[in-house]
Formats: sequence, C-alpha cells, structure tokens
Amino acid sequence: MYIAEVDVTKHEDFADHERVVRCEDNETGLLAYIAIHNTNLGPALGGCRIRAYQDEGHAVTDVLRLSRGMTYKSAISNLPLGGGKSVIISDAKKTKTKAMLKSMGRFVESLKGAYITAEDSGTSVDDLKIMSAETKFVTGVQNKQLTDGSEASGDPSPSTAYGVFVGIKASLQYRFGTSDPAGVRVAVQGVGNVGRNLVRMLSEAGAEVFISDTYEPAIKRTLECSQALDRSKVKVVDNASIHQLDVDVYSPCALGGALNMSSLVEMQAPIIAGAANNQLADRDAGDYLFHKGIIYAPDYVINAGGIIDIFYEREGYDHARVINHINGIAVTLKDIFAFSEQNQISSNATADRIAETRFLDLDKVA
Ligand code: NAD
Repeated sequence: MYIAEVDVTKHEDFADHERVVRCEDNETGLLAYIAIHNTNLGPALGGCRIRAYQDEGHAVTDVLRLSRGMTYKSAISNLPLGGGKSVIISDAKKTKTKAMLKSMGRFVESLKGAYITAEDSGTSVDDLKIMSAETKFVTGVQNKQLTDGSEASGDPSPSTAYGVFVGIKASLQYRFGTSDPAGVRVAVQGVGNVGRNLVRMLSEAGAEVFISDTYEPAIKRTLECSQALDRSKVKVVDNASIHQLDVDVYSPCALGGALNMSSLVEMQAPIIAGAANNQLADRDAGDYLFHKGIIYAPDYVINAGGIIDIFYEREGYDHARVINHINGIAVTLKDIFAFSEQNQISSNATADRIAETRFLDLDKVA
C-alpha cells in the first residue's frame, strides 16, 4: 500500500486545499484520491465516489471540486465539520471488490480522523460497512430509530429529500407568501433515492407532481412507493421537456448541470429548488436566474439534509434533533433570499459569501 502527498497548488481547481493524497494498493487494484479542503470548523466529512474516470487527471479535478463543495455545505448548515471527499477510480458495477473497499478503509484510517468518509455515487451502505471493518472514520452505516418508532437504514437519502421538501416550502413562502404545497405544481426531474421520497412527501402534502427519469424502473418504483400517493396527482412526463413545464417549482433531482444557458431560457417556473449537486453549469447561470427574478435555492443549502443526518450518527442519533436541524434549512434559505434581494446579488453568490464568512473568519462563527 502506498500513500503519497500530491501537490495540487498549480491545479486550476486548487482552492487552498489543505491536503490531497494518492492511495494505491497493487494487491487489491485500488487507486484513489482523498482531498481535504478545509478543516477550520472540524474534520473533513464527505462521501467516497467510485467512478470509471477516463484518467487520473479527471479524478483529481472531481475530488478537488467535490471536497471544496463539502466545506461550503457544512459551513452553511451550521455543522462543526470541514470539507473532504474521496474518489476511487473503478467501475462501481464491474470492478468494485470487497478487497478494494477494505483497502480504502485502511487508507482512510491512516489519516487518523482528518477525513471521515460516507456514501456517494458508486458506493452503498453495504460498501461502507465493509470499509468500517478497517476504519472508525466512516458514517452513514448504522440503522437508526425514527421518531415514529420505525427503523431505517443508514442511507441519508430520505433526510436529503425531507430537506428539499422543507426548502421548497420556504421558497414558496418567499415567492407566494404561503408555504403550503397543497395545489402547488412541482416538476421533479430524476426520481431516484432522493426524488422518489420527495415525490411522496409532496404528494402527501397535496401538491400536483410531474415526474421524469431516464430509467423506467425508477418511475415505476416511485409510483408504487406509497399507498398514500395520489396517482391522479402524479403525472409522468417527457424527460427532455420537463424543465419547460408551466409549473410553480422545478426540482432538479438527477445529475448536475441541469441549469445551463440553453435549458434556462426554456424554463417557466418561478422557483427552482432541487436535490442535485452542482446544478448551475456556471456562475452566469446563477446571475441569469437572479436577473430574471427566479427564486433559486442554492443546491448545497437545500440538499444538506443528508449530511446533517450522518453528522448526528456520529454524535449519537436522535431523530428529533436531526429533523429540527434540517428544518433550519428554511431559515437559512429565507436569509439568503432576503440578502440576495437587498444586496442585488444572486442567491448562490450569497450562500458562498455566508459560508466563507463562517469557515474563513472564525471570529464570526456563532
Ligand atoms: P440516484 O442515483 O438514486 O437517483 C438519480 C436518478 O436520476 C436515477 O433514477 C437516474 O436514473 C436519474 N437520472 C440520471 N440522469 C438523468 C437525466 N439526465 N434525466 C432524468 N433523470 C436522470 O441519486 P440520488 O441519491 O437520488 O441523488 C440525486 C441527486 O441529489 C444527485 O445529484 C446527488 O448528487 C444529489 N444528492 C443526493 C444526496 C443523497 O442523500 N442521496 C445528498 C445530497 C445531494
């Protein structure tokens, strides 16, 4: 097993990262990078992504961007955590092995808690359990007791969906003066683990929901996810044009980059609020939304329910405290929208400023 420090100071995505290491284990075929962006507020927490990157350069770019994003997400969510992320260069469906995951666990352990790993695309709760045999610095693995007495797995997706639901209500309140989703029309693009749960919550609250996905079984699973789902109010629509629907809320819950200049000019919704990471293709997209008067709930603010959930797993899980903390997303968004309007800057730039104030200027941390 080899671990080597990587000098990324000249990389275009370098953002004062504290540390990046390259991890290689010839015996298990593991090749991975771990990036620690900033630990001013606490240890760097962030998921482990497994992806068949075309080369190491793409993996480094991804880990630098993702780890930086985690610092902002934890800071804006008032969590005593820093930002980190890891990526394993492998095909999660074809070449991921138990030995490789255990090897990754050993590398995480060798960082002595500076980085805590969790689930991300390409890794599952079961994968994390395998890693946890080698390291204590892993979260999102334990079953948890919910306030209604039922038990759930370590998967944070339902908490992420709940946070998005809270964020949609806060956005409705800001735009229309009422947070009640009853009768509101919402388009949810991507109904995987987060989107499916969000559709259920919206439907139960009386919203009319339009859904799309590129994967037919995900649609089927969503329509069957709850007996309480009012099928007359959940309509399946064409994925290529869902963003053009005349709805109150467009909720991107699939992949990043949904908000680009070609899709934005076709959008009619006065609110954009969804779970996907990195929704804005670039900063121009955020400015465009602001100048058009569209309420945009910054992605890393509204999708923080999952990290809040797994943070509490390490603290001693208390579902009521988790829900209470996630409800705070509404207050954070209200403050962001108000600051954005008063200072005439986009909501995403506002969120960045607030987060930076917290993790760069520690005197101001409440
Ligand atoms: P998932 O993989 O379970 O679901 C994503 C769904 O999107 C899948 O059903 C997939 O078929 C669909 N999809 C992929 N490309 C699409 C496209 N072009 N158009 C429409 N549908 C498409 O993932 P998830 O866990 O539900 O996460 C959804 C998004 O939220 C991701 O961007 C993820 O990074 C982000 N996110 C998730 C969590 C979490 O707790 N799971 C936390 C924060 C952010």
